[in-house]
Amino acid sequence: MTRLVVISNRVAPVDEGQTNVGGLAVAVQAALEKTGGIWFGWSGEKTRRRQHSPNLTERDRLTFATVDFTERDLREYYEGFSNGALWPLLHYRLDLAQFNRRDYLGYMRVNDWLARTVARLLEPDDLIWIHDYHLFTAARTLRRLGVRNRIGFFLHTPFPPRELFVALPWHAELLEALSACDLIGFQTEADLAAFHDCLQADDDFEMLEDGTVRAFGRTVRAAAFPIGLDAGNVRKLAVRHNRSRTLRRLKNTLGGRRMIISVDRLDYSKGLADRFRSYAMLLDVYKELDGKVTLMQVAPPSRTNVHGYSEIRTELENLAGSINGRFADFDWAPLRYLNRSFSRDILSCFYRAADVGLVTPLRDGMNLVAKEYVAAQDPENPGVLVLSKFAGAAAQMTDALLVNPYDHDEVANTLYRALRLPLSERRRRWQKLMDGLIANDVHRWQQDFVDVLAGSGDPKSGSFGS
Ligand code: UDP
Repeated sequence: MTRLVVISNRVAPVDEGQTNVGGLAVAVQAALEKTGGIWFGWSGEKTRRRQHSPNLTERDRLTFATVDFTERDLREYYEGFSNGALWPLLHYRLDLAQFNRRDYLGYMRVNDWLARTVARLLEPDDLIWIHDYHLFTAARTLRRLGVRNRIGFFLHTPFPPRELFVALPWHAELLEALSACDLIGFQTEADLAAFHDCLQADDDFEMLEDGTVRAFGRTVRAAAFPIGLDAGNVRKLAVRHNRSRTLRRLKNTLGGRRMIISVDRLDYSKGLADRFRSYAMLLDVYKELDGKVTLMQVAPPSRTNVHGYSEIRTELENLAGSINGRFADFDWAPLRYLNRSFSRDILSCFYRAADVGLVTPLRDGMNLVAKEYVAAQDPENPGVLVLSKFAGAAAQMTDALLVNPYDHDEVANTLYRALRLPLSERRRRWQKLMDGLIANDVHRWQQDFVDVLAGSGDPKSGSFGS
């Protein structure tokens, strides 16, 4: 049977019985266990000396192959180019992108080294699946080393319009490197269209009848594969909280007030400042909510060494302080701003207890929190999802209340509507959203991708999980 070799920036082994892990890690590992295979990437550890062979941990038919990064790798490849240049660019934030040749060369160097290291582990029939923007150029190195295996790539972030992408000085080189893959997967049809549009700048570009494209002298298939959740698992976690101590404590502190929940890494793409302003507008306009509603914002800090991240933290602290200063009473704080992370288990309890899930990124590849909120609801009395049109999830979750996160009036009015939505409509919307989550879960996502990569899937129109 064909083995699967997954390459991602970070390897996250899933221990048996562990509940605090992401759906992606679970799905990747489940896929690897089925076919046997290797998961290769960063261990999360730092080292002083460049490693030439990976650390191997075997578990049944699965090998975790990890390498440690040097300070310089982290500075140039990870913080510099991946998160200081590509992340803002891919999220349409050219204003925050810092393009610098040294970081770009560091990025290529680490991609090269990772490709050379994993190449030594490959067998001729292996299927190779590379993940995300950290590794745009790894496939090209593999080809240069003579690797003939099928190579797939999945981008978890958005892909920006061509007018933005071409601002990256090395955009053509990255596209060329990426076209060394056989299959390139995106979260949405819009990302796919933007990618095709970028490829068209190549003289060699041709859209072929079977849906593949020719570019940079190779034939590539690109398609949308929206990532899903392990929805059943999230539901199971949430149900276990029906009578939990955490739920009791939370309810005691709410004292019968309505709760809105938001959960995001502290990242400028997540639209937290606009969200806080919209919430302030809700409190300002709808006076009857005075003392009756609480927004709980979970926002663990991330990428604290990268440009743009400490500024947003300061801005949010100021905004949170001014909202509570302006609206709070001696027995009520309208905003609970929690600068820390919680396990997925505890989050599922928060989701289930909340009347509204407020998910308003300015731009997001998918947004799994939106899906988790829905999966955690009580079917008898489900809450309402208010979702940004600019999250990849919005393309599938059309039964949420969709909003433009830049339009504070609209978000405030929609929140008010969400808090008053009749039970019958809440149930109807939730059922449709939940049916979608179950039909397009993370296992189907990985299966669809691997089938098409192996050449056995039917790409049809090139769309999956719609
Ligand atoms: N998450 C978590 N603890 C937290 C905050 C977030 O486990 O305190 C998880 C959350 O449940 C979700 C993931 O982190 O599975 C965030 O994924 P999403 O697609 O929403 O955004 P990303 O951070 O990947 O941009």
